[in-house]
Amino acid sequence: MSFTVAIDGPAASGKGTIARAIAEHFGFAHLDTGLLYRAVGKKVMGQEDLLEAAVKIADALTADDLNAKGLRTADVAQAASKVAAIPQVRTALDRFQKTFSKQPSGAILDGRDIGTVICPDADVKLFVTASAQVRAERRFKELLIAGENVTLAGVLKDVEIRDARDASRDVAPMVAADDALVLDTSEMSIEHAVAAAIAAVNDIRALGKKHHDKNHII
Ligand code: C5P
Repeated sequence: MSFTVAIDGPAASGKGTIARAIAEHFGFAHLDTGLLYRAVGKKVMGQEDLLEAAVKIADALTADDLNAKGLRTADVAQAASKVAAIPQVRTALDRFQKTFSKQPSGAILDGRDIGTVICPDADVKLFVTASAQVRAERRFKELLIAGENVTLAGVLKDVEIRDARDASRDVAPMVAADDALVLDTSEMSIEHAVAAAIAAVNDIRALGKKHHDKNHII
């Protein structure tokens, strides 16, 4: 029987690291759905008719495109969040994600709309968040290590612009599903956050322990 974990949250909240750790711990397949939007965003950069180009590219996207180099840059992140607001782009990427989520070995997907749109019936939903300042500091360090020429103030501004665009778009905005468990990693080490998330999945998977209050904090 398949088992699906949905993880959503804003940029640099720690959701990607947590998703990879849960995948490894439980033997689930993992899909970083941000890569789909980044792959489309990267390909449309510099094109004139953004809408038409983005829809065509999203329709023709292949798994290989997710391994393209340069998907993690700050510019590609902004391009991704622009194409992600186009409803036809989201529709084109919908089936791949839904099919992925039903793997018999279990699956974990991380993104912005996994618990609300892609996998509304997921067995476990997590919404991972942190303050914008903490997230900007984390992303700043990652980008510096990757050799990008960035400032902390610039990264903070980028994070805030992207959060606002992702949370305010009409289609599939970034929001915690009512039945998502909320994990705020602002003042947590990543090891602590991973342990809390694994314990929450285990509570539901092994013990059937569900919380029924809206957005229970773990
Ligand atoms: O998670 P990541 O930072 O790689 O995502 C890049 C962008 O892709 C996000 O800012 C968001 O606009 C978009 N995205 C989305 N829905 C998802 C995953 C990512 O809209 N499920």
